[in-house]
Amino acid sequence: MMLRQVPPEERRRPSSRVAGAVEWWFVRNIRWLPQVHAAMFVVFVTLLLVPPFLADPAEDAGIFDHLTVFANFALWGVWFPLLLLSVLVTGRSWCGLLCPMGAASEAASKRGLRLKAPAWLTWPGTPVVSFIIITVLGQTTGVRSHPEAAAEIFGGTMAAAIVLGWLFAPGKRPWCRHACPIGLLLGVFSRLGAVEFAPKRPEAGGDLWNARGVCPTMIDLRHKTESRHCIECFRCVSPPAKGGLFLKFRLPGREIEAIADSNPNLSELLFLVLGGGVALGGFLWGVGKWFGRIRDVLGEWAIDRDLLWVVESGPSWLMSVYPERREVFVWLDFLMISSFMVAVMLAMTALLSACTLAEAWIAGRLGAGRSLSRRFLELGYQYAPVAMVSLLIGLGGGLFSALKMVGLTTEVVTGLKAALFVLGTLWSLRLGERILAAQGLAPWRRIPALLPGLAGSLAVAAAWAPALF
Ligand code: SF4
Ligand code: SF4
Repeated sequence: MMLRQVPPEERRRPSSRVAGAVEWWFVRNIRWLPQVHAAMFVVFVTLLLVPPFLADPAEDAGIFDHLTVFANFALWGVWFPLLLLSVLVTGRSWCGLLCPMGAASEAASKRGLRLKAPAWLTWPGTPVVSFIIITVLGQTTGVRSHPEAAAEIFGGTMAAAIVLGWLFAPGKRPWCRHACPIGLLLGVFSRLGAVEFAPKRPEAGGDLWNARGVCPTMIDLRHKTESRHCIECFRCVSPPAKGGLFLKFRLPGREIEAIADSNPNLSELLFLVLGGGVALGGFLWGVGKWFGRIRDVLGEWAIDRDLLWVVESGPSWLMSVYPERREVFVWLDFLMISSFMVAVMLAMTALLSACTLAEAWIAGRLGAGRSLSRRFLELGYQYAPVAMVSLLIGLGGGLFSALKMVGLTTEVVTGLKAALFVLGTLWSLRLGERILAAQGLAPWRRIPALLPGLAGSLAVAAAWAPALF
């Protein structure tokens, strides 16, 4: 076997042999990727686009009794939670190796118009906005309950990925780099992950964008310092070559601990606070009876004023309209749910921003380096673990239902969720401490500086308490 070319410091690491074996395996087998993507496409179409055409399952149907029940379980009980958890181990491997949407987008891009990507697409806030819209729409249409809504959300995402790929960038994945809400989510959390593709011959100057190279997400390979856009497709990896990238393992969280070296940016920070907040809003409106009581009061108020459209149902692509399943949303439901989610999102963003600003300010007063805005930006990344747990419990709640189905008691599942929050909070605290250390703050001075950040993490955990109890 030819020698694997890696920097000397990587060769000395114990994990280098395992990384080398993984590299060789993928480089040898990457030719099968089109078949894998084709198979995933068939699975995608079967699970998402067939159930809306089937008769509804019986109320007591099990996951192996009806395709609709199976698809719902596969999507929300297995795929989404495992997708979130997998980034901690394998980064964005889903995107590069399995996702049929990204592969379809790239295939369309190879046959498309090759137009220059417009500014609205390359704007860093685009995936944040698309995540918020998809999350709100997912709630108002009942994406986790109704196969029609799942087909609309995921089928619409697939269609958008193909159209954008067809329109822009030759043979690349503009959708995956600039717009995909799932890609954004996986990209941020891949910074916590245990794998990295690093340049063998890095060049100074920070991350750059290069639409002419081999990378489907247009990473300039020699300038790569961050994980978020890397979909782990192995196209830039050739073990015996002196150039390109190599696979290395690292301790989870290491990239965020040294976030100053890995292109921290405001759009990711906004995603962490806005995305966690909108998921919290989407969870809280369905908890307890208070929402229904306010709805009744507002409905009566509107009827008294002849605002009858408020109590009529709207289009089914915007809200749940399933009389045969005894669920019909009216405009009042739509407006209340969406505005409540946005309000919680903004409140959570204001709270975490205030905590982070206080932390950055205290750190500066105690001797930390860099400007206040730079310290703020870097410290915001400490919320990645609590945000991840929030999304896991909020959007991936099917995992916990599945655990009950396989025999775990409610108490055990509740304990598991609580343990996740404790671990997430402790990990966030640890990341905050490491970021402050990188900012040059002396050890004992980190303790008072950390307190606002800890308060922010605890506030997130407390807001999710109804999910536990
Ligand atoms: S970025 Fe989105 S569309 Fe692209 S591969 Fe990842 S999940 Fe799929
Ligand atoms: S950096 Fe390499 S492994 Fe990562 S997406 Fe680009 S080509 Fe694929």
